[in-house]
Amino acid sequence: MRIHRRLGTLAAVLAVGATVAAAGAASSGSAGSPGASTSAGSPGSSVAMPAGAAPHAGTLLSGKTSSHVDADALEISSAATTSRTSAAPSGSPGYAYLAPTIIGQTPTGFNLWVDPRAKHHWIIARYTASTATALARLGIHARYRGYGLPAAAEGVVRVQEGVKGCGSNSSTVGMTWTYWNDLASGKEYVTHADVYLCPRLFRYGTWATQATVGHEIGHAMGLGHVPYRYHGGYQLMNPTVRRGVVTYRSGDKLGLIRLARQTAAIKVDIPPVGKLDSSSFQNDGTIDFRGWALLKFFKGDPVTISLVDNGAVVQQTNTSIVRQDVNASLDPGSRPHGYDMRVAWTGGKHKYCVRATSQLNPSASAQLGCVTWSS
Ligand SMILES: [Zn+2]
Repeated sequence: MRIHRRLGTLAAVLAVGATVAAAGAASSGSAGSPGASTSAGSPGSSVAMPAGAAPHAGTLLSGKTSSHVDADALEISSAATTSRTSAAPSGSPGYAYLAPTIIGQTPTGFNLWVDPRAKHHWIIARYTASTATALARLGIHARYRGYGLPAAAEGVVRVQEGVKGCGSNSSTVGMTWTYWNDLASGKEYVTHADVYLCPRLFRYGTWATQATVGHEIGHAMGLGHVPYRYHGGYQLMNPTVRRGVVTYRSGDKLGLIRLARQTAAIKVDIPPVGKLDSSSFQNDGTIDFRGWALLKFFKGDPVTISLVDNGAVVQQTNTSIVRQDVNASLDPGSRPHGYDMRVAWTGGKHKYCVRATSQLNPSASAQLGCVTWSS
């Protein structure tokens, strides 16, 4: 039996992309009590207020999260498959992205890691490395880092072997979860990814591993499927991957080059990251809002913090407070990224939201959180 003849084609089926609207971890004030927040360092929280004098806070909601997951299943057909590939519709670009809103990649660049515990780590490493080299030649900031399994983070692409790559049917050989974030423009950029290779992939020739690793890392970069021939040729991102197509082709390369080119331009459009950590009623009759914000790729640039009360901006400040916890995790040193704002409580019902905005590019703006207070 000539496996490579019987299994001469790989059929890749794009699974339904799942958008995970993960609700951010919400911290809450203890409703009904004076000094509703229990945040550390909040003074006077144990001081009793006259009954009825203090407002109470609803749940503190963090800003909307903007990560998405796209799961892709690459399958090997157990019989020779007839091609579902048609000629390119006129004007077809030869590439596609996982979402039409994707225009670039993280300015951090990508670090590609291979799980040292993968049973077939040597061949996975070989083709992950060659794929990284191919990507770098196209201008993508991709670097092969070798064996290791760091925590999921911006710029990290982890290639692993296991049943997570086997999907839900008997012929799937790879799955990729790609994550992306929002830009000021409403467009998006790819941040990180996890590739899982099903153990059954390694029953086939090395070409199958080469093609599958390149194809899945293509998804990790933001590429989608190209179900047609481009300039007469099949692409590596074709839903049916062929034995003779194991590296990126002209259409794949155009898509990757475009992502690389736009990555430089999107840097200033990336909104601040940050948080509204607490909202607490103070003994002097004010409500105190604390948190932090920064521009991930311009950490020294100024960020304006706006407090919005029932839709109207009522106060603005800078991030002038040093937050050692933020410095420790995001910006080594002692640059200030924290804020603290207070407004006098006037009674009634108020939805307060805190927004962070880049002073140099005001369109780069993000809501950090909201909380409703009522008396
Ligand atoms: Zn695919």
